[in-house]
Amino acid sequence: MTVVVVGAGPVGVAAALLLARRGVDVLVLDRHAAVYPQPRAVHLDDESLRVLQAAGVADAFAAVSRPMAGLRLLDGAHRTLVEFRRGPGVHGWPQASMFTQPDLEALMRAELAGEPRARLRGGCELLHVEQRDGSVRVVLRDLATREDEEVDADAVLGCDGANSTVRRLIGARMRDLGPTERWLVVDLESVEPLDVWPGVHQVCDPARPATFMPVAGSRYRAEFRLADDETAADLDLPVQLACFGAAGAQVVRTAEYSYAAQVADRWRNGRVLLCGDAAHLTPPFIGQGLGLGLRDAHQLAWKLAAVLAGGDEELLDTHQAERAPHAAALIRVAVLLGRLMTGGGRGAAVVRRLALGRVRRLPGLSDFTLGSRTPPLRRGRLVRRPRFVPGSPVGALVPQPTVAVDGMRVRLDDVLGEGWAVLTAGGPVPALADAAGVRVLRLGDGPGELACPELVRWLRGRSVLVRPDRIVAAATPSFPAIMARRWRRPARSRRVATDTP
Ligand SMILES: Cc1cc2nc3c(=O)[nH]c(=O)nc-3n(C[C@H](O)[C@H](O)[C@H](O)COP(=O)(O)OP(=O)(O)OC[C@H]3O[C@@H](n4cnc5c(N)ncnc54)[C@H](O)[C@@H]3O)c2cc1C
Repeated sequence: MTVVVVGAGPVGVAAALLLARRGVDVLVLDRHAAVYPQPRAVHLDDESLRVLQAAGVADAFAAVSRPMAGLRLLDGAHRTLVEFRRGPGVHGWPQASMFTQPDLEALMRAELAGEPRARLRGGCELLHVEQRDGSVRVVLRDLATREDEEVDADAVLGCDGANSTVRRLIGARMRDLGPTERWLVVDLESVEPLDVWPGVHQVCDPARPATFMPVAGSRYRAEFRLADDETAADLDLPVQLACFGAAGAQVVRTAEYSYAAQVADRWRNGRVLLCGDAAHLTPPFIGQGLGLGLRDAHQLAWKLAAVLAGGDEELLDTHQAERAPHAAALIRVAVLLGRLMTGGGRGAAVVRRLALGRVRRLPGLSDFTLGSRTPPLRRGRLVRRPRFVPGSPVGALVPQPTVAVDGMRVRLDDVLGEGWAVLTAGGPVPALADAAGVRVLRLGDGPGELACPELVRWLRGRSVLVRPDRIVAAATPSFPAIMARRWRRPARSRRVATDTP
């Protein structure tokens, strides 16, 4: 079983680590030998950190990142309109972390280098894919010798970024969810810490929308929207930076980016699938571009590993069905926040002040701005979300408190392991669980039970079925037996008993 991952950006390497940990051999290809040196992403939420945890790099990430205080929306005079605090959250990690992307990519690649099932080959470019008889022939070019080679794989993941070749090869197109905007990104360093609030400052001024934030270590980031006819030279940078209290910082890089709001209309053709920026692009206002891609990798890795081990091929159909609406929902939140920040016209400032004051009532935006919770996955084959049950946990990640097991305190995901699990605090456990090889984890104080009053309270007498990617698939009383039967692998190929129920 070999999967070729095209692109050694953070999403491709995350996918490779997650697949390799499930016993799949992975070849990662990239045009470049080294990590892309320019900082791009600076923010990750706590849901995304659970993906890094599954990939084995969350503790190393914690060492190079710092928790972020929250988000302040400011008016044109830099007065605070509204503030959203971030704290410890329910996922076992800070709700928001700040970091520089090259640091993250370097530690992910170091982890990959120690993974016997994975190999990274830089300096080669994917040219073509051809599918026959359930396998994929990959044509690549060695950029040093200019020679073309062929590699056969059981599946190909297109993690090749915004200008994805794989996306083009499977005939997918990007669909616009909002306008494209030009922003100037300014990276700063200050050896002496700047006297600034340690969260993200978002200036909601149509004349000059801007963002400023301390990143990690001595790094800071400022971003300014450019009008259609403007260039970076038109911006009085020292004055703009002084408004944020960053006059003393040294500018280490300025770069202009065009931010699109787009989702691909097709994420799969047979055994060729898309993840990350290849499948979606978002404006940066809620710092979700990479987070979305990490979720793609996490939610696809176990399905693909199960299919390669003989599971039902239809599992792969759920990739786009689950991920595309989730990505689109968050991109729309980013577009909406962007409009609130940047919308102009007569009376806009008054409208903005009123709208931001009522942000709790704006669908989608409130969950994200008040906490870090992203929308639950829609009802589908692997998500038995009940209709008309507000507050159902189904489709969202199970929380990750610390649990005590045999006197040891560990994060829940480390107990859940790689497969499906039922969590119960004495509630009903449908017969499917034991029969299908699903682990049943009982909460309580007895021998072999998990002690965690927080999780017992969260369960509220229900039992929940948790997928390998920590998403709640179902909750009693609607545990569907069909879910376990449908995705079970044939007995002959059940190598990892807990991968699929
Ligand atoms: C200024 C800026 C700020 C951002 N801030 C945030 C933020 O705060 N939070 C957040 O979550 N996201 C943020 N993002 C988005 C984030 O950086 C991207 O979502 C993320 O890098 C996408 O990762 P990826 O692995 O999908 O793609 P990339 O990182 O683009 O990696 C794709 C890889 O594929 C390789 N490749 C491409 N084509 C081929 C080919 N044909 N053959 C071989 N290799 C190929 C490339 O060399 C590259 O290494 C920001 C982006 C920008 C530009």
